[in-house]
Amino acid sequence: MQWETVIGLEIHAQLATRSKIFSASSTQYGAEPNTQANAVDLGMPGVLPVLNREAVHMAIKFALATDAEIGKHNVFARKNYFYPDLPKGYQISQMSLPIVGTGTVTVELDDGEIKEVGLTRAHLEEDAGKSVHEEFHDATGVDLNRAGTPLLEIVSEPDMRSAKEAVAYARKIHSLVRYIEICDGNMQEGSFRCDANVSIRPVGQEELGTRSEIKNVNSFRFLERAINFEVERQIDILEGGGEVVQETRLYDADNDETRSMRSKEEANDYRYFPDPDLLPVQIEDELIESLRSGMPELPDVRRKRFIADFELSEYDAGVMTADRRTADYFETVLDKSGASAKLACSWISGELFSRLNKDGVELVDSPVDAARFSGLVARIHDNTISGKIGKDILDKMWAGDDDVDAIIDKEGLRQISDTSEIEKMIDDVIAANPDQLAEYRSGKDKLLAYFVGQVMKASRGKANPGQLNKLLQEKLKA
Ligand code: ADP
Ligand code: MG
Repeated sequence: MQWETVIGLEIHAQLATRSKIFSASSTQYGAEPNTQANAVDLGMPGVLPVLNREAVHMAIKFALATDAEIGKHNVFARKNYFYPDLPKGYQISQMSLPIVGTGTVTVELDDGEIKEVGLTRAHLEEDAGKSVHEEFHDATGVDLNRAGTPLLEIVSEPDMRSAKEAVAYARKIHSLVRYIEICDGNMQEGSFRCDANVSIRPVGQEELGTRSEIKNVNSFRFLERAINFEVERQIDILEGGGEVVQETRLYDADNDETRSMRSKEEANDYRYFPDPDLLPVQIEDELIESLRSGMPELPDVRRKRFIADFELSEYDAGVMTADRRTADYFETVLDKSGASAKLACSWISGELFSRLNKDGVELVDSPVDAARFSGLVARIHDNTISGKIGKDILDKMWAGDDDVDAIIDKEGLRQISDTSEIEKMIDDVIAANPDQLAEYRSGKDKLLAYFVGQVMKASRGKANPGQLNKLLQEKLKA
């Protein structure tokens, strides 16, 4: 039997507002437990939630970025269940009238294939608190700092057919929400989490198989592994004559397996009903248009522009638009340095990224900002310095505040492009190496590199390599 895998994802993106979705408490990560939970977050009697306008704006931006319907009349509902980290006894979410309706996301797979994934909906909701088990003996602590943190839950259609497709889709959403700056995308801190719904069916069968739902996967690598494990598990069950039960499962990264959490029978009936404390949200066209006009150029559009306007390769354009800050950095360097896109791109993806990686620093915190980096690239572009010396200078810029020109002047690193000066050095080197000269002239072409090296050394690395090569070959042949 040939099986087809079917996957739908529910992604929780934490919205990057400063305060919570219904209260003024801070959403800052990492505070002491229970220092960022006020009376509203604690569900005290008599308090009223007040909707955070910014969370609504962010959800609309997401709809605009995915060409999705905007729920101009959307409603908050109470999802009722008991859990220690949910003091109100219900979570405020959206049910039948979400803020974002159907849309599409275009995903590019590794082999270049383009895949369209349908969005079912995206709704606003509040996060719950956190139960803390590690720090206590025979007890569980409850930290309510996270209670009331705004989430956008993004639900896909069951359109993905492999773990790889699911990961490509999740990465796409991850890049999109960061691009439009509605979520910081930090997966370690739980700002971006995926639930994967997985089922299999015989190839050719229309009807969907019974699914299991793997909860709260917080890395792309784990997402891929969890889905692959789950598919194998379901195939084993069906081929052994059994039936898959609809249930919630957890991925255990240490053992690379999924385990049952609760089955459908035990599942809660949430008794959703409209929250009487919150008015329905009416979204005016004016607001939508003003948010639309403030939208950044989206990554796909920008990538295509980089290819069309700057003649970057598909690959380079992908790297330069992987996130918005990189793309902005690149465009600044291109603009200010006057260099070709190829040169700017190779210095950013090579020398800049390797130094950031080595130091574990994000581009925003780069010791060399786009303006200073442009100065460096400009000097390589106009042949003031060679690429090799450029790397040394970048190390110095990295460690201090000097700009490229200050370093060049201070250390006398200006590239020597004066023909007569280079010729003089070549003459000296040739005169000092008569044996090598004879060998070269008798056909040992390889010695050219030796001569280049000697002249370069004499110039302390400053001779213009192109000129040096040309002049040297002429002189050696003469
Ligand atoms: P629930 O609200 O119980 O989680 P939904 O019907 O809203 O269920 O579906 C949640 C997610 O599961 C969606 O992303 C959807 O595409 C996906 N899904 C639904 N049925 C299947 C299935 N049989 N196989 C794989 N994914 C599915
Ligand atoms: Mg679900």
